[in-house]
Amino acid sequence: MMDLAHERYEALEQHIRESNPAADLARIRAAFEYADKHHGSQLRKSGEPYIIHPIAVAEIITELELDQDSIIAALLHDCIEDTDSTHDDIARLFSPQVADLVEGVTKLTRMQYTSREDEQMENLRKMFMAMAKDVRVILIKLCDRLHNMRTLQYQSDVKQKEKSLETMEVYAPIAHRLGMQKLKWELEDLALCYLDPVGFHDVEEALNELTRENSEFLERMQKQIEERLNEDGLHCTVYGRLKHLYSIYRKMYAQNKTIREIFDIYAFRVMVDDIPSCYNVLGCIHDMFKPVLGRFKDYIGTPKPNGYQSLHTTVVGRDGIPFEVQIRTWQMHQTAEYGVAAHWKYKQGMANSNLGTEREFEWVRKLLESQQDTDPDEFVRTLRVDMFADEVFVFTPNGDVKSLPAGATPIDFAYSIHSAVGNSMTGARVNGRIVTFETPLKNGDIVEIITSKSAKGPSRDWMKICKSNEARNKIRQWFKKERREENIATGRASFETELKHAGLSIAAITATPDLLDTLLRRVRFGALDELYAAIGYGGMSAQKAVGRMKEEMTRLGRLERQRAEAEALRTAVSSGETIFPAGKAGAQAKPRHSENGIIVEGLDNCMVKFSKCCTPVPGDPVVGFITRGYGVSIHRQDCPNADPARRKPEEAGRWVKVDWAESGEATFRTSLEISAKDRDGLALDVAMALSAQKVRLNNISARSQPDGYAMVNLELSVKDKTELSAVVNKLSQVSGVFLVRRAGG
Ligand code: MN
Repeated sequence: MMDLAHERYEALEQHIRESNPAADLARIRAAFEYADKHHGSQLRKSGEPYIIHPIAVAEIITELELDQDSIIAALLHDCIEDTDSTHDDIARLFSPQVADLVEGVTKLTRMQYTSREDEQMENLRKMFMAMAKDVRVILIKLCDRLHNMRTLQYQSDVKQKEKSLETMEVYAPIAHRLGMQKLKWELEDLALCYLDPVGFHDVEEALNELTRENSEFLERMQKQIEERLNEDGLHCTVYGRLKHLYSIYRKMYAQNKTIREIFDIYAFRVMVDDIPSCYNVLGCIHDMFKPVLGRFKDYIGTPKPNGYQSLHTTVVGRDGIPFEVQIRTWQMHQTAEYGVAAHWKYKQGMANSNLGTEREFEWVRKLLESQQDTDPDEFVRTLRVDMFADEVFVFTPNGDVKSLPAGATPIDFAYSIHSAVGNSMTGARVNGRIVTFETPLKNGDIVEIITSKSAKGPSRDWMKICKSNEARNKIRQWFKKERREENIATGRASFETELKHAGLSIAAITATPDLLDTLLRRVRFGALDELYAAIGYGGMSAQKAVGRMKEEMTRLGRLERQRAEAEALRTAVSSGETIFPAGKAGAQAKPRHSENGIIVEGLDNCMVKFSKCCTPVPGDPVVGFITRGYGVSIHRQDCPNADPARRKPEEAGRWVKVDWAESGEATFRTSLEISAKDRDGLALDVAMALSAQKVRLNNISARSQPDGYAMVNLELSVKDKTELSAVVNKLSQVSGVFLVRRAGG
């Protein structure tokens, strides 16, 4: 009598014989015997001999119709990890290629994929792909995970949750990226079953009930579609099915819908021979049933990034049940189900065609580096995953993933964490061992930086060693800043001394931001510190700077006197009064017009800007704030940023009274925020309402909220508050809108 392991192996061999008649069965059997011997009496948690697992993985690989080396590597995949077998042994007995595959799988097995923030997960997935180098390593690892998920019931609760989370966050998305829908679905359904057993069974139950109710519907529709298409002379095959459980679960829970509210629980697939037939079938379907608006998608014209192609449409049958129809060629179907693995299925038929011109495989080409001038078999063997060849992914000691440029060193890593870490670095450990700063990091390395408070800071050599611009810039900044602070200190001291000689003080030149700006412009600097740094560095002498500033102040004083005199004259003439001495009358003059629409008490035509937080328009009670160097910023009096209770006492003097001038034809930008029930065409209706009011729309953005509501943000230009109120009124009447409010304030 044969033992269980041999029985399973014979079944596998039979399967291989059928799907791959050219396979070297002796080599494959040798792999089985080698693995069986090395795993020896090891048992799985299920109590079965360990070797059953590699056989099962090889079985899945065979179903995918991968090449012979992949089958051999699948049988050996746990040998390096779990037995005393080594890369060299396998290379000698089988081939270096097989040994590389097994070692690749081992590396992925050793990696920890603890759950992280979303951005971390993306890096983890990239690291996973980058570490594999050969896409077959990923495929074997995915099949390994699939079998482990199928037999997860024997593991502890903790292990079940951990593995399921990893499957959901790392393995299923990778299967998706490789276009392997079928494998992805099974992984997701299995993982969901452990992650949310209650939700899983609820959906399962609801689905079973629906199936009982509507099994006859599926059959009838399938027949109806088939008959009609055949009548029209379209050669095709139709399948009816329910969507996979996890996708329904997601719709029910994420979008808070009941199973009966989900549009595409039922899906029909129509498989045809060529692309023109796809569009012909679509025409027929739309003729037979009423299409649901906005649900037609042409993934043949615009394939998904993972290469998926099909036409999708949702229609409503006579019984009022909506269902989705997916139309594709057989070849598209293979790619949809097996993704990158479909390549091996097609390799026979493609032997004579140039892969580079096959549109279907464009994405494979992008995804994987093809080796030119090699025969198709060679191509298969050398399929490499190098999408991320210019990046390296490493772990921090707490398991965060950092993405760095290829060839990055511990210096790059330290500065990617924080410049303070880089600046105080004294040493580095990689995977627990002290390394030199030049050591290039490898995918999956755990890197730890040793820092010290007494570190002297970076050395100039580091700029040559590091690979990232980030590190280089931060090191450069450190050098510049070290010098800069000294420069500023000495520059400031000599500037102040020179001012005193000229009979001026710092207070005199910083009296208003406008004056300071003008003076700095005269010496061609943007800020005082820059001027100080330049004086300290010797780029400008303190004497020269003070001299020029003094000249400028004299000139400004003269201008101001002339202007005031002219103003006084004008006021006196227009009011019929006698002419008063200059200065006194000038202070009384209040222009009612202003270029920017605002009158600031005590300051004529100064620079004004309308604050972004509350976007005031004429008619709003407003208040002004004298900023440091940007003129007066205008807030609404009810803006939180202008709230008297929140003003800083030391800035009390900066708040000034302002009022609207007669602004004529000018318009003012302001923002509105709309809350509404989410629906198609909402943003369009909002835009239409504005155009009916003849109001200029500068910007519109709409965001759907997870709860079925939407937020629409508008930026528009209006003349004044009256016009704005009319707009708000009009917008409140748009269907679905329940709140229109001004942003801020
Ligand atoms: Mn395994």
